[in-house]
Amino acid sequence: MDRRQFLTAAVAGGAAASLVSPSAEAQVSPVQTSARIVIIGAGAGGTALANRLVRRLEGAQITLIDPRREHLYQPGLTLVAAGLKPGGYVVSDTAKWLPEGVTWLPERVVAVDAEAKTVSTESGETLGYDWLVVAPGLVLDHDAIEGFSLDMVGENGIGALYAGPEYAARTWAAASRFVEDGGTGLFTRPSTEMKCAGAPLKHTFLIDDIARRAGNAGRMNMVYAAPQATLFGVPIVAEKVRMLFEDRGVDTMMNRTLTGIDAGARRATFATGSGSEEVEYDYIHVVPPQRAPDFVRRSGLSWADRWTDQGWVECDMATLRHLRYPEVFALGDVAGVPKGKTAASVKWQVPVVEDHIVAGIEGREGTETYDGYTSCPMITRIGRAMLVEFDYHDNLVPSFPGMIAPLEELWISWLMKEVALKATYNAMLRGRA
Ligand SMILES: Cc1cc2nc3c(=O)[nH]c(=O)nc-3n(C[C@H](O)[C@H](O)[C@H](O)COP(=O)(O)OP(=O)(O)OC[C@H]3O[C@@H](n4cnc5c(N)ncnc54)[C@H](O)[C@@H]3O)c2cc1C
Repeated sequence: MDRRQFLTAAVAGGAAASLVSPSAEAQVSPVQTSARIVIIGAGAGGTALANRLVRRLEGAQITLIDPRREHLYQPGLTLVAAGLKPGGYVVSDTAKWLPEGVTWLPERVVAVDAEAKTVSTESGETLGYDWLVVAPGLVLDHDAIEGFSLDMVGENGIGALYAGPEYAARTWAAASRFVEDGGTGLFTRPSTEMKCAGAPLKHTFLIDDIARRAGNAGRMNMVYAAPQATLFGVPIVAEKVRMLFEDRGVDTMMNRTLTGIDAGARRATFATGSGSEEVEYDYIHVVPPQRAPDFVRRSGLSWADRWTDQGWVECDMATLRHLRYPEVFALGDVAGVPKGKTAASVKWQVPVVEDHIVAGIEGREGTETYDGYTSCPMITRIGRAMLVEFDYHDNLVPSFPGMIAPLEELWISWLMKEVALKATYNAMLRGRA
């Protein structure tokens, strides 16, 4: 085994070991119950939780509601949009991940009545619940970008990798033409909360790196445009990204929110705070505003005084329990907490929700808490990444202190994204991590 193979095995093994939560492995007898548990959404959070609850409970009626028959491994989308993986890399069958003993209802939820404790679906079915977990992820509001529609992706220099595997592949089609032809590349992000805030940066770094490898760096004008004043929510990471951008000649346009594009003229419009500004591009990466699904807001589950344009579920940031409806929990991207719209956060949130539901069924208080942990294997070039991990307080919380430095561009951190992340994600879906 050479050094590379050894490190690969160490990362994969180490990741698996450090990610196995004690409660997943504990040999405790299942709790007998006839509780009705409804989970909305069979994505990263809902699936992982269902797999863990079937092992903790005996006799419970667990219903997972989700119309999507394909499960999407979203962290792989950045690799698809850089031509490093095919679209199929991120797609699997939803059914494959669901445990026996759970009922999957392939329907869209349209309403929750938290007073009556019912959930209604598009076909008119109404289900009662004793415990409800709201895990429908978030909605990409592409319509908020004037002049833009998803059918444009892949043509006329337009990319939008968040929209799914087909669009990530089409994004690469547009980006690879830009890499060959050169010109101005505009890389954007929204003003709302968003999932994996590192992904727009990763796309910028990767396209820049691919252009350099093709010997085209001199023909590229790379520009990262963001509504925020800084490049990342954690100051020390923002400063590191600023230095890397400076090093690579990536310009920035801060305090600019993309509001529209003119696809024919290849012109983008940004709100600047004091007015608007038009910028011509040869390639643009559109990341739209992101919001809670409409049914969440309509059902009165959202915060009334925070993120009012986005509608995230009102919940306690440590327990994810709804503040007004104690039998309701938020999980994953939809949760109204200050950090954590990543699968890595989901991994740490799931055992917390599991603990509080099982405890509630047993008539006691749960003890597990979520500290805001989130992580971002920030790819900075092909074969190099920074493994950035932090909590609610912007503390860096490295999983491998002394082994993987968080702010260094390392090959081993790239492996975390390339090799270990998908394996760990799959283990999480099975409730084993
Ligand atoms: C481009 C990109 C890169 C990313 N990179 C990383 C990364 O490197 N590391 C990382 O940790 N995370 C990353 N993420 C984020 C991660 O994928 C998400 O945070 C995670 O999937 C959230 O899990 P979730 O269960 O909340 O939502 P999802 O996994 O999105 O699942 C939500 C599910 O709810 C269903 N649903 C929606 N509405 C309804 C409804 N009305 N009724 C019933 N079901 C409904 C959907 O069909 C879906 O299956 C990335 C995401 C993207 C888009």
